[in-house]
Amino acid sequence: MAATPLPLEVINLKKRFGDNEVLKGLSLKAHKGDVISMIGASGSGKSTFLRCMNLLEQPNEGELVVHGESIDFKQTRRGREPADWRQVERIRAKLSMVFQGFNLWAHMTLLENVVEAPIHVLGKPRKAALEHGRALLDRVGLGERADYYPTQLSGGQQQRGAIARALAMEPEVMLFDEPTSALDPELVGDVLKVMRDLAEEGRTMIVVTHEMGFARDVSNQVIYLHQGLIEEAGAPAEVLENPQSERLKQFLTPKF
Ligand code: ADP
Ligand code: MG
Repeated sequence: MAATPLPLEVINLKKRFGDNEVLKGLSLKAHKGDVISMIGASGSGKSTFLRCMNLLEQPNEGELVVHGESIDFKQTRRGREPADWRQVERIRAKLSMVFQGFNLWAHMTLLENVVEAPIHVLGKPRKAALEHGRALLDRVGLGERADYYPTQLSGGQQQRGAIARALAMEPEVMLFDEPTSALDPELVGDVLKVMRDLAEEGRTMIVVTHEMGFARDVSNQVIYLHQGLIEEAGAPAEVLENPQSERLKQFLTPKF
């Protein structure tokens, strides 16, 4: 029997901005249901790594394999040319991203935000998309807010809406870039709760976060990035409780 393809594999991914090599050969494997937390200092390349995974940035080298479909960036003229755009769209649909700033479309209601891509990218029938969209808004605790515009919602509600929007694509992997960093402290809990629920459902997630509690309790793998390289990786108990490098020890020491 053929093995089920992994949701995501990244092989030796490199990214330069001009002369600045920001990602210096990063690899990871996400198995179904993995929750991978990515930590590291500001500027270490965490956002760029996520943006390369869903092709918001074009990697210069390396390979992405998304549920068995591979893009080898060496074959795309050393990264100068975009990969095949149809393929980019397909891959992006399989790896939905939730950003730090909530990024909902301001001129659309919450429900319209959620159904936009399923209808226009996946070609889902409008009625089915609306039904699914309402169910997802219920799930993130926003059933009553479907017809509100983003400015009528708190940051936490907007972020939960952005999670519903990402879920509506039925992605293989969900990518989160510091999803709670821009929130007022009292709103962080609700968003983390939704993310914990997704993890418990067996969703595959890669989460850039400063929430060490989340990294420790929810993820099964932690990656510590330093200057575009993975410096330590492993189970949270190893990486967070028993860091090897001085740098990671420093990083994990509370600053105040
Ligand atoms: P992190 O998310 O870990 O804080 P980033 O991935 O945002 O780190 O940034 C890593 C490095 O890449 C930084 O030095 C940053 O200045 C640089 N960088 C990120 N995006 C761009 C860009 N579009 N153009 C040029 N340099 C960039
Ligand atoms: Mg970042």
